[in-house]
Amino acid sequence: MAQPDVLIIGAGLAGICCARQLLKAGVNFRIIEASDAVGGRIRTDRVNGFLLDRGFQVLLTSYPEALENLDYERLGLASFDNGALVRYHGEFYRLVDPWRVRGHFIANLLNPIGSFADKLRIGKLRSHVLRTPLDKIMLAPETTTQQALARRRFSRRITERFFRPFLGGIFLDTKLSVSSRWFEYVFRMFAEGDAALPANGMQAIPEQLAEPLPEGAILFNRRVESIDGTTVTLADGERLRAEKLVVAVEGPEAQRLLHFEKPVLSRECVCYYFAAKEPPVKEPLLVLSGSTRGPINNLAVMDSVQPTYAPKGESLISVTVVGNPSRDESVLRKMVRGQLKRWFGLVVQEWRLVALYRIEHALPVVFPMDRNKPSRIRKDVYAAGDYLATPYIQGAMESGRLAAEALIADMKGPH
Ligand SMILES: Cc1cc2nc3c(=O)[nH]c(=O)nc-3n(C[C@H](O)[C@H](O)[C@H](O)COP(=O)(O)OP(=O)(O)OC[C@H]3O[C@@H](n4cnc5c(N)ncnc54)[C@H](O)[C@@H]3O)c2cc1C
Repeated sequence: MAQPDVLIIGAGLAGICCARQLLKAGVNFRIIEASDAVGGRIRTDRVNGFLLDRGFQVLLTSYPEALENLDYERLGLASFDNGALVRYHGEFYRLVDPWRVRGHFIANLLNPIGSFADKLRIGKLRSHVLRTPLDKIMLAPETTTQQALARRRFSRRITERFFRPFLGGIFLDTKLSVSSRWFEYVFRMFAEGDAALPANGMQAIPEQLAEPLPEGAILFNRRVESIDGTTVTLADGERLRAEKLVVAVEGPEAQRLLHFEKPVLSRECVCYYFAAKEPPVKEPLLVLSGSTRGPINNLAVMDSVQPTYAPKGESLISVTVVGNPSRDESVLRKMVRGQLKRWFGLVVQEWRLVALYRIEHALPVVFPMDRNKPSRIRKDVYAAGDYLATPYIQGAMESGRLAAEALIADMKGPH
């Protein structure tokens, strides 16, 4: 096998986006991937006609990197309505973005999810994030999301009943300890674009990004065991060498391979998929738990948003538990079913569990959130991955591009 100029470890979004830049610059590369396909944390399983993303995820269509690199039409995106259905005290309440979805202004104002003043504050926050350049948002003084909400004088009521489950589901952190920068960035993404699902599942995103890569550029089912300079040793003992190395694996694995001093901590979640004869919610809305009585944080009827996720005559319900309240699977499943029964009644007994995904490293903990972390780790070795940027699709794609740009600049040398 001819020696490439660059070896990239990992075919998640960061690795693929790095490779795309190298390809454009005419740099010869090869990707080594431990699993059997591209996508990393964005994989979709096809089971009896259902599309099961490995953990509930959405594409925010206004991510700058996604807008730049993805063909949305070919992805066949279908979007959630902007807003949520909040379960609170035995009822479902609609909280819809009145700037994006017409006809809900009065219902929004009257529901018990927040006060009238809270809803005006949401409007103020919305106009602030829309008129602030994204770079400025990411350089603003940083606190936790919880503190940022308190500073904007949001009441406990709306924080507990709406922001905690909504942002908790996005950040997989119900303590709202995530950076206020990221909170404002994501709020802007929701105000500007949609939360969408591709027709072939979320894995269609990395697959489309990988399309231009030459055949054979990715070696699948090859795990890198260790790194020495720019030589990598694979699990089967084979050694590969290149001029330069890009380590584009998830944070904890990067720490193992690159011996970072500080550990990369993880946010975890459990995602259940149930099949039902009838969709419990027909509108394309995210369903949130507005009370702290868990364990469910959020739920989505996938085919109410993207019909391709379920076969004809069936409905697919995804249920997300943030963190991991019980390691005992049967205990957690009982708790989840109990909560679903309280929400939707006895019909839940007929729902069939299709799959469950327990994801120990779903998102990295990134605080403070500093997008200017260097991609170059040491001579000829670069790193990419969401843990270096913003822990989301946008950050993973951006970090891959930045690593490639740094590497290409080093190859060219000083002018
Ligand atoms: C449940 C869940 C929900 C999420 N929700 C959203 C969401 O709604 N919106 C959003 O924008 N983002 C979401 N994310 C985050 C998003 O999926 C990630 O930020 C992004 O996919 C990370 O890409 P990455 O390339 O940095 O890392 P990864 O996708 O983890 O890719 C790393 C790759 O490296 C490979 N690898 C690891 N070790 C080795 C080794 N030793 N040798 C060879 N290969 C190796 C892995 O197999 C993997 O393919 C979610 C993630 C999860 C899990």
